[in-house]
Amino acid sequence: MTTEKTQCLLCGADEVTPLAVGIDYECATTAVAFHFGRCSQCGHVYLNPRPTLQSAPEIYPADYYTLNTSHQPDGFRLLGRMKDRVVRSRLRPLLHAVPQGGSIVDLGCGDGSLLLAMRQERPDTRLCGVDFAVSAIQRERMEKAGISVIESALESAPLPNDVSLVVMNQVIEHLWDVEACLQKVRGCLRSGGVLSVCTPNTEGYDASWFHKGAWGGYYFPRHLNLFSQAGLFRQFERTGMRVTQWRPLLAPLIWMSTARALQSRQGWPRWTRLNDTNVIFLTLFTLLDMVALTLGAVTSNQQMILVKE
Ligand SMILES: [Zn+2]
Repeated sequence: MTTEKTQCLLCGADEVTPLAVGIDYECATTAVAFHFGRCSQCGHVYLNPRPTLQSAPEIYPADYYTLNTSHQPDGFRLLGRMKDRVVRSRLRPLLHAVPQGGSIVDLGCGDGSLLLAMRQERPDTRLCGVDFAVSAIQRERMEKAGISVIESALESAPLPNDVSLVVMNQVIEHLWDVEACLQKVRGCLRSGGVLSVCTPNTEGYDASWFHKGAWGGYYFPRHLNLFSQAGLFRQFERTGMRVTQWRPLLAPLIWMSTARALQSRQGWPRWTRLNDTNVIFLTLFTLLDMVALTLGAVTSNQQMILVKE
């Protein structure tokens, strides 16, 4: 594993206030401890030092969950379908605004499940999935459904032209070169084309409770940049796209990740059922976030919708 020093994505300053320290609680790919700092100039939160791009195969091993769907128990498939339904409902108005024959790109498509769900909803569109690694099984599944697949680093992927909708679900925080990738996205969109970005929110109420390192949004060491609502807004102002909508989203999976990090940090006994397929915990965390939203709090997940003018 090689690491590199970096500076603030949003303002270029390199002075930070230490915020959080942690190890790879989720995949244990390295024993190295990583640090998040808050930019002293603008408040942006980023990992520094961070793994180099060359270390990507180490921190995204072949059994990384998005790459492996061939041995999932039935319960996981059911939850996968529920997750698809949630994600699809977030995108439905955007999906229906895509003209007949229009192009949709899922940047960071993982196992392609969202694209397969979109295929059912809008069979009249052209769909394309992009990710840095796509397994042979997943490629076959997508191509069978008429979805084109591009296997490439997201920052340099050869995207199609004249795209109506680009989806980036939990992706921007993983990028090594955010600005290059967003310029590429802007370039591939047609005029009036839409981008949907979902990413953790550093202002989530639970992010402040576990800010020292257990917060699931940190996801050491794969999350490189973490955004507040204002930070995300600033990033897209720079990219030259107009924000049309922002909203907080429920974040039960970030809560599950927090729970696992707490378990590891506190040395609590291993509960094997503290995983993303635990329906009871997922339900409890979803209810907790729903109550928080009702009380006017901000959750640890957010969606921003942007238009290229
Ligand atoms: Zn800054």
